[in-house]
Amino acid sequence: MPPTLASARGVPETPEQFYERAKNALRMPPVEEWETFPFEGGIRPSALQPPLNDEKPRRGEGGVDCYACTKGPYDLIWQDEGWQLTAVGPTGLPLVLILEPKDHYDIETLPAELAVELGPLIASTCTGGSWGDRPACDS
Ligand SMILES: [Zn+2]
Repeated sequence: MPPTLASARGVPETPEQFYERAKNALRMPPVEEWETFPFEGGIRPSALQPPLNDEKPRRGEGGVDCYACTKGPYDLIWQDEGWQLTAVGPTGLPLVLILEPKDHYDIETLPAELAVELGPLIASTCTGGSWGDRPACDS
């Protein structure tokens, strides 16, 4: 099996251990004091729910009703062999882009060869840079 992000380091605790440690420890930073905080008043975290024995399948699990697989050429802003970039909206924000692998991976199962591409692709997307011969944010 090729290396993945999950295989690079072990998971230090079980979901139950994490829940016990974190359920009463969730705190918010004083975001209402930040100059860039766009809302008035504070916010608070939701109560952490305990881990489930059996989670319901996520939408797209196993490729069934998968949003990414249903995207066509007119939905894609950019793509290569391993990745695709799309925009979603309207969201109320100027632009929301989704960068996703073409194959089905979670971040912990992302193959190392794709994982090393992720950071530069995110940086290129955020800076409006270019990948290969195509600008990331052409119009
Ligand atoms: Zn899919």
